[in-house]
Amino acid sequence: MALSIDEARAQVLAAVRPLPSEDVAVQDALGRVVAEDVVAQRDVPSFANSAMDGFAVRSGPAGRALRIVGEARAGAPAAVAVGDGEAVRISTGAALPDGADAVLQIELATVDSDQVTLDDEVDPGRNVRPAGDDVREGETVLPTGTRMGAAEIGIAVVAGRGTVACARMPRVVVLATGDELVAPGGPLGPGQLHNSNAATLAALATQSGARVVRTGVVADTEEATRAAIAAALDEADMLVLSGGVSVGPHDHVKPALQALGVQEVFWRVALRPGRPTWFGTRDDTLVFGLPGNPVSAMVTFMLFARPALGAMQGAPHEPERIIAHLDEAIPRHPDRDECVRVTLHDGFATPTGPQGSHQLSSMVGADGFAIVAAGSGSALPGDQVVVELA
Ligand code: AMP
Ligand code: MG
Repeated sequence: MALSIDEARAQVLAAVRPLPSEDVAVQDALGRVVAEDVVAQRDVPSFANSAMDGFAVRSGPAGRALRIVGEARAGAPAAVAVGDGEAVRISTGAALPDGADAVLQIELATVDSDQVTLDDEVDPGRNVRPAGDDVREGETVLPTGTRMGAAEIGIAVVAGRGTVACARMPRVVVLATGDELVAPGGPLGPGQLHNSNAATLAALATQSGARVVRTGVVADTEEATRAAIAAALDEADMLVLSGGVSVGPHDHVKPALQALGVQEVFWRVALRPGRPTWFGTRDDTLVFGLPGNPVSAMVTFMLFARPALGAMQGAPHEPERIIAHLDEAIPRHPDRDECVRVTLHDGFATPTGPQGSHQLSSMVGADGFAIVAAGSGSALPGDQVVVELA
């Protein structure tokens, strides 16, 4: 009895050893996962400042005529304090001068040489951004496990950080097996096809925060397969193979892995597409033998290898799932759960078109996989279905 998707994924995650951390310059941390709580070293902003161009004043009624006694600019605080009957010209972001408790914007002030008349009443705190208005000193701005996007990089900078401790990027080697494979853009001879798996699997790994150290093509011989895998095992935290894991006479991956001491954890998942998926480990290195069909390779990477890469980096790796309604009938496979590629709209899931495991067009634009459970008959229009987001 083959494993379910969830059982197989649990076995993969149980084999993951988190990678050590390293300091990364914050501007280089895009896509990295922080391995520490990033804590603000001071209030942000660190000083009260003006939200407007205008005049820093003491709060009070409209109609006051004040003497302009100085200027506060961004990066150049005023040299003087604001007293009664006084104002300081102020720019957006400049420190609020001592003595002032508000700013009146320039549009509501009438200037006559060194005097300004306030055309509006000024309440305390008007147009002032207090210190700590964004982030408080000691506040955790990024908890351990956060993946760094643009905003996360920004908040780490304002929190005072030049570097952040991040999980080392998993080193991934992708090997595509098959005598029929031709490099992208190359001319096709009889019976040949373009090697899309190396490109799609490397792209998926990169999107998961990995460093793809090498992609390669392996001929369908025992010796070539064994040599390529032996070299890859020495440089990879994760080895991803495509093709050659079925039971044909030219499928050399499993015996090669066995000969090289990679321990099988599972082979075969009750899944369509992707039944022949193989997973094993050698020490801390994870090895996936993914089926060669282009859709099967992508789907099984997304179901099993992607969460493993997340877990290696200490990132959340629970699959993102939603419930949607099918908008057309889908015949159930008798004993395999099917990952139907769908687009999502208004709570409905629509298959992307023909769903053959060789039809890569079914992956393009897909929002996720509707998991149509094995069984008899069909899942019907309107039925609820779990969709794992792509
Ligand atoms: P296999 O799992 O090796 O039996 O391959 C199954 C199918 O996937 C065959 O039709 C292969 O030609 C195709 N295939 C295998 N490897 C690749 C690849 N790297 N890129 C695109 N198609 C592939
Ligand atoms: Mg093959």
